[in-house]
Amino acid sequence: MTKILLTGGSGFIAAHLLDQLIEKGHTVVTTVRSEDKAQKIRSAYPDKADRLEVVIVPDIAKEDAFDEVAKTDGIEVVLHTASPFHYRWTDAKKELVDPAVIGTTGILKAIKRSAPSVKRVVITSSFASIVDEAHVDNPEHTFTEKSWNPVTLDDIHRSPGTAYRVSKKLAEKAAWDFVAEEKPAFDLVTICPPMVFGPVVPHFASIDSINTSNERIVDMLRGKWKSEIPATYPVPLWIDVRDAAQAHVRALEKPEASGRRLFTTAGRFSNLQMAETARSKFPEFSDRLPGPEVKSGGLPSPIFNFNNDETNKLLGLDYIPVEKSVTDLVAQLKGLGI
Ligand code: NDP
Repeated sequence: MTKILLTGGSGFIAAHLLDQLIEKGHTVVTTVRSEDKAQKIRSAYPDKADRLEVVIVPDIAKEDAFDEVAKTDGIEVVLHTASPFHYRWTDAKKELVDPAVIGTTGILKAIKRSAPSVKRVVITSSFASIVDEAHVDNPEHTFTEKSWNPVTLDDIHRSPGTAYRVSKKLAEKAAWDFVAEEKPAFDLVTICPPMVFGPVVPHFASIDSINTSNERIVDMLRGKWKSEIPATYPVPLWIDVRDAAQAHVRALEKPEASGRRLFTTAGRFSNLQMAETARSKFPEFSDRLPGPEVKSGGLPSPIFNFNNDETNKLLGLDYIPVEKSVTDLVAQLKGLGI
């Protein structure tokens, strides 16, 4: 079994990842921002205290944020997932780009300096660092594991979505540059999921603080799509959160993942497909959901191409279908009283 440092253990994806790691028998040290979140994790695993430690790291934008936790004895793998994914900022550079980039370089420096036992670092990047906004409507363009978003820091004011994509691209690029220049003893794997949907782990499930990518399902169930389903744009690609977590587990286990950039997606989805799934499985919400006459929110056309065959060959994930992902999340939100 492996001793793993997992950053941001309270996050939507990371909480599933923590669950899968504990289930597999690994020892995990995870970081969260507050004692309240630490307590929720400890309470969720009452009989795992011998191989689960929760450490408070209040702000990953501080250069020395990970210096102490990196000194934990015997860490073999680091899974760095913590990075802001929300649109509640007022200063994109300070609140989005800095935590993404400094969080990434900070943890890599701390590991190189203080954690000689670390063999692999897996970083949660995003399709945001692959996609190029200039080609999302271009059916002649194929995004793959080799594609890089050309955005720079100058693009952060273009739109909130662009600012987020800048944060992810610059953070991932900084990680690959660090490995190329510093030649640390560990290798690097990055994981680039597009939109991630699905249920939240029970101990962090809350309608009012739902994570950003699931917000659209809350909006749908609150009646916001009743007369018009929003366009599925610019990223009609997705993966279930349990598969995204599993991709990290396989990335740490497989020697051949070394040095690879993984583009993890189950394929295309549309908001229309989500609404149709909810309508057929949850007739009790029909007064809030769009009826069959509402046909907006389908797949955009024209649309880009993608190819993630190399990732699929390596990870061998059997992707959860979108209908199950939506059904499981809607059932959870129903249980929470939406
Ligand atoms: P969450 O918002 O649920 O998780 C983000 C995590 O980062 C949380 O643990 C959060 O802590 C932590 N965090 C954010 N800012 C800081 C900070 N300044 N200091 C310390 N911790 C911080 O989102 P997801 O689980 O969806 O995202 C996890 C990762 O996956 C991110 O890197 C994101 O970019 C990436 N990703 C997500 C996708 C999606 O559709 N969900 C798609 C592709 C990539 P706290 O819980 O306290 O807020």
